[in-house]
Amino acid sequence: MKMFKRFALFLMACAGGGCLATAAGVPGVPEGAGHWAGREGKISPVPVRNVRLEGGFWGPKIRVYQERSIPHSWQYMDGNLRALRKAAGEKIDGPFNGTWDEANLYKLLETIAHSLGMFPDAALEQKVDEIVDLLGRAQRANGYAHVFIINEGKPEWDPAFLDGSHDGYVLGHMIEAALEYHANTGKRAFLDIACKAADEACEHFLGPKGVPGFCGHAELEMALVELARATGRTRYVELSRAFVEWRGRGVVRPYGATPRSYFQDSVPLRQQRNLDGHAVRSTFFATGVADLALAAGEPDYRLAANRFWDSVTLRRMTITGSTGPRHEHEALGEDYELPNNGYYESCGACGLADFAQRMFLLEGGSDSGDVLERVLYNAVLHGISLDGTHSYYQNPLSDMNRERYNSWVCCPPNLSRTLFQVGRYAYASGGRDAYLNLFVAGTVQLPMEGGPVGLKIKTEYPWEGRVDISVTPGNVSRFAINLRWPGWCERATLAINGSAVNPLTKTDRGYIRLEREWRDNDVIGFVMEMPVQRIEAHPMIKDCVGKVALQRGPLVYGFEGVDNGGKAAIELGEQPQLRVEARPDLLGGVRVVTGDDAEGKGFVAIPFYAMANRAKSVQEVWIMQRGWKASEAWWEGRLYRNADVTVQKAVAPSPTEKDAK
Ligand SMILES: [Zn+2]
Repeated sequence: MKMFKRFALFLMACAGGGCLATAAGVPGVPEGAGHWAGREGKISPVPVRNVRLEGGFWGPKIRVYQERSIPHSWQYMDGNLRALRKAAGEKIDGPFNGTWDEANLYKLLETIAHSLGMFPDAALEQKVDEIVDLLGRAQRANGYAHVFIINEGKPEWDPAFLDGSHDGYVLGHMIEAALEYHANTGKRAFLDIACKAADEACEHFLGPKGVPGFCGHAELEMALVELARATGRTRYVELSRAFVEWRGRGVVRPYGATPRSYFQDSVPLRQQRNLDGHAVRSTFFATGVADLALAAGEPDYRLAANRFWDSVTLRRMTITGSTGPRHEHEALGEDYELPNNGYYESCGACGLADFAQRMFLLEGGSDSGDVLERVLYNAVLHGISLDGTHSYYQNPLSDMNRERYNSWVCCPPNLSRTLFQVGRYAYASGGRDAYLNLFVAGTVQLPMEGGPVGLKIKTEYPWEGRVDISVTPGNVSRFAINLRWPGWCERATLAINGSAVNPLTKTDRGYIRLEREWRDNDVIGFVMEMPVQRIEAHPMIKDCVGKVALQRGPLVYGFEGVDNGGKAAIELGEQPQLRVEARPDLLGGVRVVTGDDAEGKGFVAIPFYAMANRAKSVQEVWIMQRGWKASEAWWEGRLYRNADVTVQKAVAPSPTEKDAK
């Protein structure tokens, strides 16, 4: 109670706004040391609508999500739409959806907003406008808009159920949908509703009668920062900051026996050493902290974001980019607790993709792109079926005859909204530097100092390692193109207009930086060698001892019984000959890896993302490697590594710019 009083006094003293982003912060919380000014705007992502995904790997996939996933999703919206009509004053009976379901409607609307930016569709836009109109009528006069709570007559931001009511989770997804809808259609109504709802939240928590608290499912933290970026209203950053600062101080009562770590509330932010608790909540929370580091420029947030990043990517992430192995509380476990038959919810992977993108904006390092690529091409893509209409809630690496299902608990529209953002994840720019983090076929307009720069990318990546980039510099002649040198890639060559760049070096941030006077139709030819690699895991991961996984480029491969005589637990011989074969007829067109096992029997491995798309079948990613002698050396800063070259590489790392000078 004492704590509540202190917060109330502090907030009253700050009434009028502006204090949280600019002044001392929360009582009892030390001010950040140092004078780091943040990186907001130094590197910015490219809007999704600036990118055209054409051909290659992603073009046809995005078409599937547009043509099949979106129409398929509407059938799961009935309860949400009925609830919305009821709240808007129509006489309508149930069944209605529960407290968090509304977020699915907003995730779908965000997916549609991205889609409309790429594929205009007047009928679909009309449908969204009707929903926005209903929402405007359902919203309370004070701005509160969580329809489930409105219909049930429950308290707004109920302090007795703040860890479970999902008020902030729903509002966060509403804001993100409204921002994208505004960006892609130019229409303001949805964004105005979202701003009014966000203003209500600011008043509820930060106003003269405000009480400390935060929604137990993080999401609103990052959405508020995005809303502040779009509207220039710093009060949204203040609220996001308060939600982060109030954690670990006993202001939210857990409902039932839920541990406080479940909602990142066990200790204050500055004492949180690891990313803990519910995997989805924690990755969303970490993304919000990174967003605050960008927006508020507070060194402590940057430090915390980096601790969370190391915690998850160096100790708590599967080779496929999943987090959260535990069924109990859907939680991240201890360091190196990564069982192959773990839980690994799809939404956790979506959260990690966003976190990786924010860490790139924050630190500008290629390791963020490496993780982003691992997550997108493996865990996220695995979550959605090849036909775009089925989904996995869980993404284990070892599985027994499980089938995909459409639970529509939370993951399907999160997967679609994430996949539609491939373009946003692929590119960034700042000053006179352009960044290519993912290699996707199509075109992009990059906002740069001096005007937009166009790039056209031709590639069959990740099936092939060749990427051809033609440049349209517009009015910006001298600038730098930064290509991520993928962490998986041992050797690459690069030529500009056919002349080899030699030696090919990378910056200490992991990029090939090509700065010059660019001319129209200059072409960069980047070729990454893409052999099949045997990957070994950190020796502390028990389930992977004595085993390897196959990876080619960013794609992790796995074994299904259906391809291998009912068996997935293959054992490789000591010197396996691994071959790559194009199979245009299989699983929408894939490259498979073939070879002989230790007994001389042939095997077929398929990309992890394509697994579980046929008949029920046993599945494995990690397989035994006969005669394996694992080394415990050179694991610093790594969780997985190429087993064949690790020791040599550690002695002679690939050259950097400094070496070349
Ligand atoms: Zn989910």
